[in-house]
Amino acid sequence: MKKILIAGGAGFLGSNLCKKLIQDNEIICLDNLSSGKLENIKPFLDKKNFSFINQDVIQPIDVKIDEIYNLACIASPIQYQKNPIQTLKSSVFGINNLLELATKNKAKILQTSTSEVYGNPLEHPQTETYFGNVNFIGKRSCYDEGKRCAETLMTDFNRIYGTKIKIARIFNTYGENMAIDDGRVISNFIVQALKNKDITIYGTGSQTRSYCYVEDLIEGLIKLMDSSDEITFPINLGNSEEHSILETAELILSKINTKSKISFKDLPEDDPIKRKPDITLAKKHLNWEPKISFEKGIEKTIAYFKEII
Ligand code: UDP
Repeated sequence: MKKILIAGGAGFLGSNLCKKLIQDNEIICLDNLSSGKLENIKPFLDKKNFSFINQDVIQPIDVKIDEIYNLACIASPIQYQKNPIQTLKSSVFGINNLLELATKNKAKILQTSTSEVYGNPLEHPQTETYFGNVNFIGKRSCYDEGKRCAETLMTDFNRIYGTKIKIARIFNTYGENMAIDDGRVISNFIVQALKNKDITIYGTGSQTRSYCYVEDLIEGLIKLMDSSDEITFPINLGNSEEHSILETAELILSKINTKSKISFKDLPEDDPIKRKPDITLAKKHLNWEPKISFEKGIEKTIAYFKEII
């Protein structure tokens, strides 16, 4: 049984990772519950191989572990811009703490990076060699630059101390355990439709995203962690099927019996115009690609929100 630390383990992705890894491992879940919820980890709290530490990833932590997954950072643009300094610190100071812990324990560490490192991309689809187009003093930069700096720290710890690192660049993901007030597109549209409220499309809705269902993504993260030690370079994880925001709204509206109408709002600052991962590296090195169709994933996510609303 491996001893695994999951930082951000009560959040959307973190709790889904706990659910999978608790089957064969001992889990230490670290979360300050800023966006994560106790509700997400409630089914595991009384299990012998699960412990929860209510602490910010910025605070030093000393535990014996074999592997670390770092998911401790608020990922929804609306939420992470509310306290930008905290957002940047979570990524940078957080990963610094965890890298020191990993190095001391000779543990493997996986950082969940993001497609946001590509900013508003001028290359399409985005490959891992693309350096990106980020406004580093814009409102999104607290997240984008925090995640970029975390990749730098990961790579330098590997170069200097030989720390065993894994970097996943995660593209838009959706599914069970997203919070009702998360603020990202899929959860917003589903919650709005279920409550018969207007569907808020920012801009014209012609901007695109490529959405991965959470179960697929979690499988990709675990395969990356289990990959051979030479794989220290960033790998994109996401679904390469691209949809406009308008199409996304139309699909969700077609699946819910609702009185909601589409309402167009201003496009937020620095909102990327398009986004689609090139997942050649994930296919080659991890033998991974998403399996769940957008339609199926949306149906499962609607069922989840129906339960909790
Ligand atoms: N978006 C939207 N309405 C919403 C929430 C988001 O039109 O209620 C748009 C947003 O402007 C962006 C896309 O959907 O173009 C994805 O936004 P999200 O916040 O989910 O994540 P991002 O990919 O921007 O990090």
